[in-house]
Amino acid sequence: MDIAKLKTALAGKSGARLKLWMEICARCGLCAQGCHFFQSDPIPEHVPAYRLKPLAELLRKKGEVDEAFIQWLVDVAYGTCTMCQRCTMFCPHGISVPFLVRATRSLAVSQGLTPKGLADGLANALSIGNNLGITQDEYLETVEWQLEELQAEMPDAKAPMDKKGAEVMLTFHPRDIKFYPQNLYGYLKLYNAAGLDFTLTSETGWDSTNLGLFAGDDAGATEMCRRVVAAGENLGVRTVLTAE
Ligand code: SF4
Ligand code: SF4
Repeated sequence: MDIAKLKTALAGKSGARLKLWMEICARCGLCAQGCHFFQSDPIPEHVPAYRLKPLAELLRKKGEVDEAFIQWLVDVAYGTCTMCQRCTMFCPHGISVPFLVRATRSLAVSQGLTPKGLADGLANALSIGNNLGITQDEYLETVEWQLEELQAEMPDAKAPMDKKGAEVMLTFHPRDIKFYPQNLYGYLKLYNAAGLDFTLTSETGWDSTNLGLFAGDDAGATEMCRRVVAAGENLGVRTVLTAE
C-alpha cells in the first residue's frame, strides 16, 4: 500500500459536485428501490448510499487508513455496483452514486488494485484497440461478412468504411463483433433502412466501450475517449453513435 499515492489521488477528489453530493446525502435509503443488488438481496450493504462510505471515511481520515480498509474499499467499489445509474432516478437530491463509486475506484487504481478482469480488458483496449483484443483484420472481416449476409436481404445495403464527411460515425461494443455478429447485422440493417448517412472507422476508435471509465482509471479513460474523438475528427463526422 502506498499512502503517498493514495493521498495524492484523494487530493484530486475536491470537485464541487463530489463535495456537494457527499455532504447532502441524507442516508434516506430511497435509492435502494432502484438497485438490482438490493432488490435481489436486501441487506444494508446493498443500499446504494452504502457505496459512499469508503470515500466518506477516507476523506474524514485524510487518507490515514490501513490495508484492511483499502481491501474493503475495493470490495465495495467494484463488488456490488454495475454503475447502471438506476439509483440516481430514485434520489430526491439527484445524487449520482456511480459518479462517487467511480471516484472511489480511482483511489483503488492509485494502489494498483484494479480487479484483474478489468485491468486485463483495459490493457487489451490500450494496446490492441478494444477490450476483447480483436485484431483489426478480424473486425474488418466481420463487417464484410455481415454486410454480405445483409445484402442477401437488402441488395443495396452498404457499410461505408472511412467515408469522409459522413453525418454519423458508428462505434460498437467489441462483444458485438466477437460474439454476437448478428447484432452488427441488425445495426447495419437499421441504419440502411433509415437512410442514415453513416460511416464506420477502420481506426482503433471503433470500440465504444471505455473500460478506463468503468475501472476508475483516469489516464486509460482519457486515452480511450481521445481515440474515438480522433477517429471522428479525422473523418469530419458531425455525430458519433455509441452502441451498448
Ligand atoms: S436516495 Fe439519495 S439522499 Fe437518499 S440515501 Fe440514496 S443517495 Fe443518499
Ligand atoms: S449504480 Fe450501482 S448502486 Fe446504483 S443502482 Fe446501479 S448497481 Fe445499484
